[in-house]
Amino acid sequence: MTTQKAAPVHTRSQELQQRAERYFPGGVNSPVRAFRAVGGHPPFLESAEGAYLTDADGNRYIDYFGSWGPMILGHAFPPVVEAIERAARKSASFGASTAAEAELAERVVSCYPKLEKLRFVSSGTEATMSAIRLARAATDRKLIVKFEGCYHGHADGLLVKAGSGVATFGIPGSAGVPDQIAHLTLALPYNDLVAVEAAFAAHPGEIAAVILEPAVGNAGCIPPVDGYLEGLRAITRREGALLIADEVMTGFRVALGGAVERYGMDPDLITLGKIVGGGLPVGVFGGKREYMDLLAPLGPVYQAGTLSGNPLAMAAGLATMDYLQEHAGEIYPRIEATAKAVAEGVAAEAKKAGVPLTTNRVGAMWTWFFTPGTVTDYESAAKSDTAMFGRFHNSMLEQGVWLPPSQFEAAFLGTAHGEAEVKATIEAAGEAFKAALG
Ligand code: PLP
Repeated sequence: MTTQKAAPVHTRSQELQQRAERYFPGGVNSPVRAFRAVGGHPPFLESAEGAYLTDADGNRYIDYFGSWGPMILGHAFPPVVEAIERAARKSASFGASTAAEAELAERVVSCYPKLEKLRFVSSGTEATMSAIRLARAATDRKLIVKFEGCYHGHADGLLVKAGSGVATFGIPGSAGVPDQIAHLTLALPYNDLVAVEAAFAAHPGEIAAVILEPAVGNAGCIPPVDGYLEGLRAITRREGALLIADEVMTGFRVALGGAVERYGMDPDLITLGKIVGGGLPVGVFGGKREYMDLLAPLGPVYQAGTLSGNPLAMAAGLATMDYLQEHAGEIYPRIEATAKAVAEGVAAEAKKAGVPLTTNRVGAMWTWFFTPGTVTDYESAAKSDTAMFGRFHNSMLEQGVWLPPSQFEAAFLGTAHGEAEVKATIEAAGEAFKAALG
């Protein structure tokens, strides 16, 4: 049996929680980790291997959040661990160029041939922030279009109707973002081309870029409707605005070449993160040479980073990319099939229990929305019964299944998940739906 049946003990986690609260606001270094959206206290993690997490009290959990996406090859994947060890022996950081940067760039570009040039940064936030700066410089325009429920990191101008953690806390944006900056961002409903046309009509010649998650993960999983991505491309091209595909979440996940490959997109700029660093901090922004060559030292757009291209992060990324590329033909169909089995198996349990549920899935990322209605944008996602989701989440956790702790997050799995994990998860869901009904 892979999951514990007796209610788990959390004594050590509770002690660690008190200690953490002494130092960190809310006891955490990133807000969604505090489990405020689902109630209860998050277990503190001590180790993980493959598809399993182990907490500080020795309880084990099947992992369906994968460190919010990166751990597609499972935790402590030996080639990644060895690559980090080898790199660490040579130095944790040089702050000067190394061969590993170009090696990882070659792997990334072979998955994303549209990246004529790219730059490594240390987070998804930095990647999108830099892409926006570049788009503004390239077009000499100020306004940005984003979509409600899409999260692009926590840079000021992108924290407008930003889904995910922000949605979890029920606030429209963030205090501390000046109106003058927020007003430069137009937040439109996702999957709605009419709204995009109207925005360009209202602001002719003023919109620098449209940025989106090509398949949304940060309002829960929401796929693009047919023709949406093509429509955005046509409108932005006609209007002289850049199209930025934020693939921090979908990159190397919904296909080896991400949403660009899966949906045949043709963006001007692409941002990546999460999987590309194999669990270490790496972000990427890149795209057409004509735009990328505007960056310093070639051009006038400044962007930099002490730890950009860090050797440990490059090593982890390289080991991850090598494995993914070599086995892509087997990995992507398999993780998609496993995700389908667990997503549909759990949905069937909901039906048996009489819980209204809508399941959205793209490849190996999905969300069970606690609403009977179809979910195509943030407004329809927000109709979900978040209290019911919270009870479901808590029961799953008690039974040894760790789901992302918010209704507005996507679940992930990877190569280490197999039939045993799917079966245990579906079994746990039967109980959890009873608990969800209250
Ligand atoms: N863009 C997307 C689509 C994301 O999902 C995230 C993080 O979840 C980010 C950007 C920000 O990345 P990071 O948390 O590495 O700053």
